[in-house]
Amino acid sequence: MNPSDFSIAQLRAAYRAGDLNPTDAISAIASAIDDKDDEIGGYLSYDPESALAEAEKSDINLPLGGVPIAIKDLINVKGQPCSCGSKILDDNYTAPYDATVIRKLREAGAIPFGRANMDEFAMGSSNENSGIKICRNPHDLDRIPGGSSGGSAAVVAANTAIAALGTDTGGSIRQPASHCGVVGVKPTYGRVSRYGLVAFASSLDQIGPITKTVEDAALLTKIIAGSEAKDSTCLDEPVPDYTEAVGKDIAGLKIGLPKEYFSEGLDPRVKEHVQAAIRKLESQGAETVEISLPNTEFAVATYYIIATAEASANLARFDGVRYGHRADGPTDLISHYKKTRAEGFGPEVKRRIILGTYVLSSGYSDKFYAKAQKVRTLIRNDFTTAFEKVDVIASPIAPTPAFKIGEKATDPLAMYLADIYTISANLAGICGISVPCGTVVEEGKQLPVGLQILGKPLGEFDLFRAASAAENE
Ligand code: GLN
Repeated sequence: MNPSDFSIAQLRAAYRAGDLNPTDAISAIASAIDDKDDEIGGYLSYDPESALAEAEKSDINLPLGGVPIAIKDLINVKGQPCSCGSKILDDNYTAPYDATVIRKLREAGAIPFGRANMDEFAMGSSNENSGIKICRNPHDLDRIPGGSSGGSAAVVAANTAIAALGTDTGGSIRQPASHCGVVGVKPTYGRVSRYGLVAFASSLDQIGPITKTVEDAALLTKIIAGSEAKDSTCLDEPVPDYTEAVGKDIAGLKIGLPKEYFSEGLDPRVKEHVQAAIRKLESQGAETVEISLPNTEFAVATYYIIATAEASANLARFDGVRYGHRADGPTDLISHYKKTRAEGFGPEVKRRIILGTYVLSSGYSDKFYAKAQKVRTLIRNDFTTAFEKVDVIASPIAPTPAFKIGEKATDPLAMYLADIYTISANLAGICGISVPCGTVVEEGKQLPVGLQILGKPLGEFDLFRAASAAENE
């Protein structure tokens, strides 16, 4: 087996057995990237030299000693580019400091290696909004890998990475993980520090792992979780050892099946796999009960008001004054802003800034933004009520398997509607995981399908318990 095919657990075992050392592993991954990534486009940049230098010094006795982790290109790693998939930063921006998650990974011995492709500023569900280049699904190169963490999921699925970090604002870890047949975790809002993450929608964003196994996901979540003063939204709660949930029995675990998530619009082939995975959980002693999340139909509208409003404020900082792209030949300050932002941002980002500015503008903010906040509370209450009866919730991740590149590109609304099963978790602040549960064959290609498990706030332990029971051997 090529070291780039390994999971974190396999890589650590090979190091400890003395069969492999971190520099050889990095070299093997770098050559896998050289071989495969031109076709896939999972990486925006990678620097084997500095990774090799770090590998030479690595301590394999640490929990992630010598383990390379690919990083979505909007999390700052000191000295590395951080383009956010945007031309506005791609020109010349180098991160001046490490994000907290990177500091934690380094303390555990990991090596941040490679910048993963993404939709520009994490806005999208297909990676087609990358301002830099397209990313393809390794299972079928004509299809999207999902988004916005499409690169992170594609490199893990293509075995050009051991594991990766992504971000999830409305499904951007879980949905690409599902489309690429890997595991992806959106931790509870506040579980993981966002210090050093370039913000998209601050009340929704979370950083989480994309991995080959549930065990790896539990380990990475444990390492990056925890509070700190630099992100005041962090929850000051102890971090359990999530790895202990892996393989733990699920007898008596109560699983809610939201009827709104299994209705109209769900591809019957996806439904079949998700239901089979649920039966697999039942056969291990879990109890299932039908539940209702009655405000689900308002989730897409609510999300696309709140997320765009927050994005319009967060993206104001990209003005070409202190960093990033700067347009030539402005006549005054306003023309400098206009030209820089018109040249630097792609069409989806512009659409969101315009939408977000509109829903916040005087005379409209009560009608849109304030109302969306109220509906958000109703959506959160739906989950609070449901979690009084059940421990976790199981559902599909996406209504269909990965679609063809270009298929939805001209219809942003169709793309937004496909987020229906993932965005409520962000609005409610709860945790969720995507775990592979089968494949659908189309045109001779095996297209992965994911099972979503949603957990209570800080309920990650039960999430890993259920996901490990559902995991395909
Ligand atoms: N697809 C959603 C959007 O376009 C989610 C993005 C995300 O989670 N970053 O906003």
